[in-house]
Amino acid sequence: MRENIDELYAGGFTFDNTFSRLPERFYTRLAPTPVSSPKVIKVNEELAEILGLDPEALGGRVGANILSGNCVPEGSEPLAMVYAGHQFGGWVPQLGDGRAILLGEIVGRDDVRRDIQLKGAGPTPYSRSGDGRAALGPVLREYILSEAMWRLGIATTRSLAAVDTGDTVLREEELPGAIVVRVAESHIRVGTFQFFSSRSDIVGLKALADYVIERHFPSIDNVDGKYEALLEEVVKRQASLIAHWQLIGFIHGVMNTDNTSVVGETIDYGPCAFMDSYDPKKVFSSIDQFGRYAYSNQPGIGYWNIGCFGQTLLPLIEGGKKSALDRVQKIVAKYPELFGEAYLVGFKKKLGLRKQLDGDEMLGQDLLQEMAEEGLDYTVTFRHLTSYHGSNAARVAAAQHFFGVSKGLKDWIARWSRRLQEDWVGSHGWETVMGSENPVYIPRNHLVEEAIKYAVSENDYTYFHKLVGVLENPYEEVMSSAKYGLPPEPHEEVKATFCGT
Ligand code: AMP
Ligand code: MG
Repeated sequence: MRENIDELYAGGFTFDNTFSRLPERFYTRLAPTPVSSPKVIKVNEELAEILGLDPEALGGRVGANILSGNCVPEGSEPLAMVYAGHQFGGWVPQLGDGRAILLGEIVGRDDVRRDIQLKGAGPTPYSRSGDGRAALGPVLREYILSEAMWRLGIATTRSLAAVDTGDTVLREEELPGAIVVRVAESHIRVGTFQFFSSRSDIVGLKALADYVIERHFPSIDNVDGKYEALLEEVVKRQASLIAHWQLIGFIHGVMNTDNTSVVGETIDYGPCAFMDSYDPKKVFSSIDQFGRYAYSNQPGIGYWNIGCFGQTLLPLIEGGKKSALDRVQKIVAKYPELFGEAYLVGFKKKLGLRKQLDGDEMLGQDLLQEMAEEGLDYTVTFRHLTSYHGSNAARVAAAQHFFGVSKGLKDWIARWSRRLQEDWVGSHGWETVMGSENPVYIPRNHLVEEAIKYAVSENDYTYFHKLVGVLENPYEEVMSSAKYGLPPEPHEEVKATFCGT
């Protein structure tokens, strides 16, 4: 159902589209497929304000029509982007937005240009055998996790809204359908570059690279060797992103090159999850049979994906083939060191350390080993560590009890305590450092599943709203939210998550 003219201007959307100016072979222009009776589940008011949108209008009937794709607002030039990618290591020459429609770009009040995309907006030429839709569960999961990641300070796409479509989608069973309105600095993926490079479409590849540089990395636009500079930037961002995932205990689940953003945002929240007890081999995704994307493999897979990206740029790099390959390999080879540095910097903050000493890396590794042996909860461990030398007697006692379970842990605590005192003579500065690095609240899988279960089977969104609210302040402990800081009881533990389709 197309709406009347007033609706085209409602909500305050002011698009300023650039991707749609790229050649036609970069996308297919098409509008979202209308849904039966859209209802807004949640509007992200803070993000709406940044985008210059009116949160109140978005939450109402008009907003529901826009955010579900029933009404395409003035200035939007809806399209589905094309890309390719390596999925679980296997090459797929053509993928694309199979169920997402890019409405356009908005330059926010913060002067940042962002894509506004409806995910679950109906079939496109890239849908293959899919229906182009999304089920309510995965939409809520994406909303909760992406916003939690944002609050935890990790680069990510965000969620402007979740909308119930009023239709059902058929998966293993019939489920309520929904749309998540995804906001990204960019939806351009390593797979987008692979699409053009693999077809030897050098004109397309250059247009894409120039576009990405101009839009996302303007400072390198005029440097000599700008495509090498682009690779450096992408390597840096990817190394930093994955270091942050490791530090927070996040497992993406589907690190395919088509799910790897060139601007280094976490993108495509499918079967992703946060670890409870520390286990480097942890895999959640039910489709990841061989553990390719296990927690401890993420840094290495990031390297592999960056290698794929570097390869796409070869035709743009000047000099002979051999010299271009050498230079690309040298840049890609910086990834492990950049990752290692970012990880160590972050880990030291988790331990409250500020000096740079030789044994730092080992101190961290030894803690992780103890945690793995004892099956300790990742988040809770660092929170107890944060309290260990604090001033709250009850928390100190709880932390002492927590680390008292084994000789190995007690010895480690003694080592760390000496080191902490060395670093902070006469000051408690580490409290602030650790307190803002070690969250109390993460989107624990059993809580996410609980929120989804009540929404899907009982149309009860109170758990979803409460969880989203708690995760807005992940570092601040609130007595009334105690449940959200606790690991699951054995019977609550969620061992597998399912693909977001
Ligand atoms: P993913 O690895 O989950 O990001 O998805 C891989 C590809 O499958 C992407 O090109 C998606 O657009 C597409 N896809 C996923 N689910 C659906 C669906 N329900 N209908 C159509 N395409 C889909
Ligand atoms: Mg994807």
